[in-house]
Order: sequence, then C-alpha cells, then structure tokens
Amino acid sequence: TEACLTAIDGADALNAFVHKTPELALERAKAADERLKAGDAPAMCGLPIGMKDLYCTKGVASQAASGILEGFVPEYESTVSQKLQDAGAVMLGKLNMDEFAMGSSNETSVYGDSVNPWKIDDRKLTPGGSSGGSAAAVAADLCLAATGTDTGGSIRQPAAFTGTVGIKPTYGRCSRWGIIAYASSLDQAGPMTKTVRDAAIMLEAMAGHDMKDSTSADLPVPNFEAMLTGDIRGKVIGIPKEYRPEGMSEEIKTLWDEGAAMLKAAGAEIREISLPHTKYALPAYYVIAPAEASSNLARYDGVRYGHRAKLSAGDGINEMYEKTRAEGFGDEVKRRIMVGTYVLSAGFYDAYYNKARKVRTLIKRDFEDAFAAGVDAILAPATPTSAFGLGEMKSADPVEMYLNDVFTVTLNLAGLPGVAVPTGLDSKGLPLGLQLIGRPFEEGDLLNTAYALE
Ligand code: GLN
Repeated sequence: TEACLTAIDGADALNAFVHKTPELALERAKAADERLKAGDAPAMCGLPIGMKDLYCTKGVASQAASGILEGFVPEYESTVSQKLQDAGAVMLGKLNMDEFAMGSSNETSVYGDSVNPWKIDDRKLTPGGSSGGSAAAVAADLCLAATGTDTGGSIRQPAAFTGTVGIKPTYGRCSRWGIIAYASSLDQAGPMTKTVRDAAIMLEAMAGHDMKDSTSADLPVPNFEAMLTGDIRGKVIGIPKEYRPEGMSEEIKTLWDEGAAMLKAAGAEIREISLPHTKYALPAYYVIAPAEASSNLARYDGVRYGHRAKLSAGDGINEMYEKTRAEGFGDEVKRRIMVGTYVLSAGFYDAYYNKARKVRTLIKRDFEDAFAAGVDAILAPATPTSAFGLGEMKSADPVEMYLNDVFTVTLNLAGLPGVAVPTGLDSKGLPLGLQLIGRPFEEGDLLNTAYALE
C-alpha cells in the first residue's frame, strides 16, 4: 500500500486518481496485516486497489466525475466495494472516468482527461473510457487492480487500450446497489487487472446475490480461480463474420486470426458463425442507453445531492432546477438526456425506443442461437483501433466517438459476459486486445478460455 501511494503521488500527470485516500488506505492496510498475522486472511487481504468514481464509498467523495455531484459524500457503501473491503482489499482512492460513465475516451470528466501510460513519442493518448482512470492506474502500476463498470464497453475498451485485462460479467452477477446508475438494464460492475488470474480472484470477491438489487442473480458464485486450468480441448470457439466491418485495420484482422490459431493449437474447434443483427446493435444501444440515462439522471435536481446553482432574486423552483442542471452537467451528458427524453416522448416512443427494444431481443437471440448450436465462446476484436490521441476524436459529430463501441455494446444488450485480453502490440507499439464472449453465468469457463489466450 505504501509503495502504491508513493507511485500515485508521482503520477499526477496521468490524472488517474481524482480523490486520494492515503490515511484510510494505511488504516485498512494495518487491519489487513493484523488479519494476516492472525491467520484469518481472506482472498484479497491487503491488496491495494483503486475504485472507479462511480461507486459510492462511505465517507469518501463519489462524484461520477460530474460537476453536479460536487461535494457529494455518501453515507453508504456500494455492495461491491463493501464486498471487496470484506475480502481484505485496500482502497487507495477514487479513479477518473467519463462523466456518469458516458464516453469512450475519459474526455468528458469534470476532472479533465485521464492519460494512458502508453504513448507514442510525446503524444498523449486516451486510456479509453469510461473506466479510463481504472485502466491507466492498473497499467501504470499505481494499484494492483481496479474496479470498473461496463454499460457498453467501459471495462473492455479501456483494458484493450492499456494492455490490461477487463471482464464485464453477466448482467446480474454483481450487485448494482450503490453504483451510480447510467443505464440500469445494461450496467455491470467488473474487475480490471493485470492478469486473467487476478480477474478471476477479484470477480469472485465482487460477485453475488444482493437483496438490495432485485436484478442481481440468486446463484452461487464459483471459485473462478480454480477453473483456470488452461484446458480448452473440445471447446467450440465462434468467429462471427459480422465483426469484420469494412475498413477494419489489417493489423486487427491479423491479431484476430492469430488469436483463433492460438485457441486452435490449444485444442479448441474454430467455427465461423453468423450473428446477423450485429449491425443494429450500436444504433439500438444509443437509443436504449440514453433513454434509461435520461430517467436515471432526473434525480439530480439541486435538492437531493451535490451542486445547487446560486439563485437570483425572484427565482423559483423551476429556475433552481434549470440553472443547477445547466451548470452541473457536461455537454455529453446533456446530449444524452435530450436524446433519451426525445426517444421516450409520446410521439416518438414507438418509432425509436420500442423499436430499439425489439432489436435488442433479436440481438439476444442471435447469441442464443449460436450457443444452442454448440458454440462455447465467441472470439472478436475488442476495439476497431488501438488507443487514439487525446483530443483527436473530439469532433463536431459525437457519432464518431460512438463508433468506437461497435464491438462491445452487443453483449451488454444481450446481458452476456465478455472479457478483453491483451494479445499483442500494433506497429506503433501500442497494445491491442481481443474479446471473448461467453454463455450467461459461465464466467469461469470464459476466464479459462481467456487464460489460454493470455
Ligand atoms: N462508450 C459507451 C457510452 O458512452 C459505453 C460506456 C459504458 O460502458 N459505461 O455509452
């Protein structure tokens, strides 16, 4: 813990940790030492980790990287961060992210951009988003592991951009209680680590049924680490032909072929498959996620949490709401609230929101058909490119940024688990990752396949 705290203090340029909690960390590390001495050491005893700012942590500022939650210090601890604490993990502080987890580059944060420790010459690169601070902190050895959340790729894309491992578990595997909501039917917590083994250990600590989240699954949590045998003989790996969009880089294609060859050499059967509705996933996601966000974000009204605008004489409650929300939310969040409100409005509900829900069902069925035909896991790229430069994608057209999520949003819509594994470097020397998608609640098998690929 002390070594990590020193490393964090020397890494301000990465802007990964946005609230540091050194006293609390040392206190918890001492308690972990005592437990170790007493021979009562849980799985993550004394392991220093970082916590995404989206998790509510008791007595520690939790802002979701938003101005509207300025000064918000929760009275309660999220279930997942509590579970990690119970498993002995030591929180070093809170990590940077895109505001309310909306973004793919960590450039929408009220704290400013987080920076990827990987760079080309002096060009600053994005660590990805929204869990950009988590990925940067793990990649730069500021902590042994970090929490992330994934609504449409926010664990897997930053993992791929930083050469780290990130798993988005099955929807319902981890409790969402106390994690600030973005899109409730898609959000999932998950670990971001250096190795697949670490991810297995940390996921076990984070997972489990919770009475406080009615969507959390009442299923036993297996010992994921014990499932890492590396034996994948006879497993069927699907290669979806729709994940090869026009203009995809040759390097990613090569990496993908190499990944398939590696799994084949380990005894798996490689099978080309079709997930015909893949092309509709991105538009469906960018209707459903903003719709849910517009509803979830209605609670930030200047009364209950964080920031409240200064009012002028004569201002009433409506002016208070308007000014507070105008000042507190960033541009991307406002855009999503407007899009969400629009697609949910009476006149457009059927044309957009309802249609997107139907598309979501079709996407889910594509995966179900593949699994029913015997496929155990699906191998695909995690991202269409390696990490891009900060500022490079901030164009007038936000859709360009959304295109980054083309390979990741599909499985959130289907509720499936997915893991990003670092598998190589591109010609610029930057990490590239592949993604494995698994059957629901079979994270153990999925991690084992990832282990064979690592
Ligand atoms: N980049 C996607 C978005 O902006 C995904 C974010 C996430 O998974 N939290 O919505």
